[in-house]
Amino acid sequence: MTPVTGADGGAANIGIRVDRDRCAGSGVCALFEPRYFDQSEEDGLALPRVREAAPEALPVLRAAASRCPAGAITLVVPDTRESAAGDRAD
Ligand code: SF4
Repeated sequence: MTPVTGADGGAANIGIRVDRDRCAGSGVCALFEPRYFDQSEEDGLALPRVREAAPEALPVLRAAASRCPAGAITLVVPDTRESAAGDRAD
């Protein structure tokens, strides 16, 4: 696994983004990773519970992004400039 480091070499947090225009409201993210995702009771679309997560969360966040049927979850990994919805680079 690629180490996640910040510009100063220290651990960097992972940004979690959900594109609500793409989200289909399937609820898969909230079902598998309720620590990081919730679903709006109003419109059923996903809501990230947190905007950032510790580097150790990267495997589960990648799994959540790869399961999303709409490709609506983007992970922002600072320094490496990795931005992925699943394994997709933007
Ligand atoms: S898995 Fe994707 S489409 Fe389904 S609720 Fe989560 S962000 Fe939306």
